[in-house]
Amino acid sequence: MRLDVDAAMGRALELATAAQEWGDTPIGAVVLGPDGAVLAEAANEREKRGDPTAHAEVLALRAAAQVHGDGWRLTGCTLVVTLEPCTMCAGATVLSRVDRVVYGADDPKAGAAGSLWDVVRDRRLNHRPEVTAGVRAEESATLLRAFFRAQRGL
Ligand SMILES: [Zn+2]
Repeated sequence: MRLDVDAAMGRALELATAAQEWGDTPIGAVVLGPDGAVLAEAANEREKRGDPTAHAEVLALRAAAQVHGDGWRLTGCTLVVTLEPCTMCAGATVLSRVDRVVYGADDPKAGAAGSLWDVVRDRRLNHRPEVTAGVRAEESATLLRAFFRAQRGL
């Protein structure tokens, strides 16, 4: 299946929605190959796995590397994620060598792709993916707001 960035974000939003079923914060990620084919997709599974590193981006990047055919390198690929990556995921994104990161909502409290830090475009690192922010951001933000509102029992 080949998707453009907007459609891939739509799929990531579906994955984010599903994460709520097992009590995880609604965040979803899709990795597109150089030709736009879907290599991998994942939702946040931190609660599901009891794993502090099981963020959607890390799970999707790992799965994509298993199928991409260039060892661990995801050169030419695009990571599409519903929320701005945290420091761990921004770091994993740089290490994976993806060409591009596309994200939805900004995360002013923990974002590491421009909000609190800018790990993905730090000139001290030898790989800097292109960043596109704000793709279908309102849909992602709405999903997150509703989730946290429900968690607070409001
Ligand atoms: Zn993360």
